[in-house]
Amino acid sequence: MKTKTFPRGIHPPEHKHGTEDKALEALPAPEKVVIPLHQHFGAPTAPLVKKGDEVLLGQKIGEAKVLFSASVHSSVSGKVKAVEDFNHPLGKPVQAVIIRNDGEDRISPELQGHDAPFSLSPDDIRQKVKEAGVVGLGGAAFPTAVKITPPKDKSIDTIILNGCECEPVLTADYRLMMEYPEDILKGAELDRIATGAKKIIVGIENNKKDAFEIFRSQNPGFAFETSLLKTKYPQGAEKNLISALLKREVPRGGLPFDVGVVVQNVGTAKAVWDAVSQGRPLIERAVTVSGTGIPDPKNLLVRVGTLFQDALDFCGGAKDGSNMMIMGGPMMGLTQWTTEVPVIKGTSGILAWAETKPARERACISCARCVTHCPMGLVPTQLMKYIKHDFLDEAEAWGALDCVECGCCQYSCPAKIPLVHWIRLGKNQIIALKRKKSA
Ligand code: SF4
Ligand code: SF4
Repeated sequence: MKTKTFPRGIHPPEHKHGTEDKALEALPAPEKVVIPLHQHFGAPTAPLVKKGDEVLLGQKIGEAKVLFSASVHSSVSGKVKAVEDFNHPLGKPVQAVIIRNDGEDRISPELQGHDAPFSLSPDDIRQKVKEAGVVGLGGAAFPTAVKITPPKDKSIDTIILNGCECEPVLTADYRLMMEYPEDILKGAELDRIATGAKKIIVGIENNKKDAFEIFRSQNPGFAFETSLLKTKYPQGAEKNLISALLKREVPRGGLPFDVGVVVQNVGTAKAVWDAVSQGRPLIERAVTVSGTGIPDPKNLLVRVGTLFQDALDFCGGAKDGSNMMIMGGPMMGLTQWTTEVPVIKGTSGILAWAETKPARERACISCARCVTHCPMGLVPTQLMKYIKHDFLDEAEAWGALDCVECGCCQYSCPAKIPLVHWIRLGKNQIIALKRKKSA
């Protein structure tokens, strides 16, 4: 079957064999969970509980006060030990609710599903998704209720379900597709109703042909299309997926809304279905625990707030000599300095590596490999030079803000120059300057 793809990109070794055949397994709820009040794109939530309070499974413990935020819920029942700053996998410590699990999973009566979810209005669907604190589970953790609320001047015609999981090593989305195809499709249908889109396209890479065949054989009672994509990184980046499937180009600085599209990760679609049909908040997610430092790699269903150490212990503990741990995939993931950090809504993987040595950086040899492979059509070597020398206006004019931080440039650089580090730094500086100017 013919496959579709986007221009440029790379094909790093996949390394998915360690976990792809391992079904999702529920990690037993830990004795203690640490649930950050900020684990999404946008503003932190305000705490609704205090030390000593009893909480129920699924109870809202952090309230989203503004549009760009996402409420936070308890992933266990038990007693609040503290509300205080705690390590966070994105870097700086964040205020978190620390709960001693009573092991009883007493369910909150706040949770209300609906018997006929497809009969709900777009507003009702969005409200349930918002109440459940659903965010994009592909890693960006963008509030889903906002994503399925197109601006009034934008008309959406297509929902793209992102089943690429193009990051090496990770297989949690693949297992969700193999085990929950119907729930995923039903979530996409709710997205279609909420946005007023006309069609749903499921895009799956051709290294997951069995998942593709499972989706093709589904008959959920509504229309959808399936499309096979070439296995290439970063096929799952929104703009690349839209280019591959619809031949539409999202304008520089624009969003998928601008070309009539909403892209949603398959795990997020399942979370949408769970939220609307069962009233289930986002308190658990699929996580791949793998890498050369893991004795027994697995795909796990992990409660939000579980410490990385608990997940690692369930997989045999990190081997002696493991010297690098990453949250997410090896290309875009974030290096961690401790295992005492909680799983958050955006944790797609916990990877440990046993033999990494720091790369020795050398001078640029002007080979242009970084340019050849950049999926956004940027000139990473030039961006790095501008940013290094504080020419931020020039860096912006050369498209620094369009960089999706995929790492293709750095991966292909023979001089081992940390291009993504420089470009990320420049982006942050440009955004900070813009905020200062508009304040
Ligand atoms: S410049 Fe940005 S978008 Fe281009 S390859 Fe590098 S990290 Fe990816
Ligand atoms: S790939 Fe590396 S060495 Fe080659 S041009 Fe880009 S920055 Fe320079």
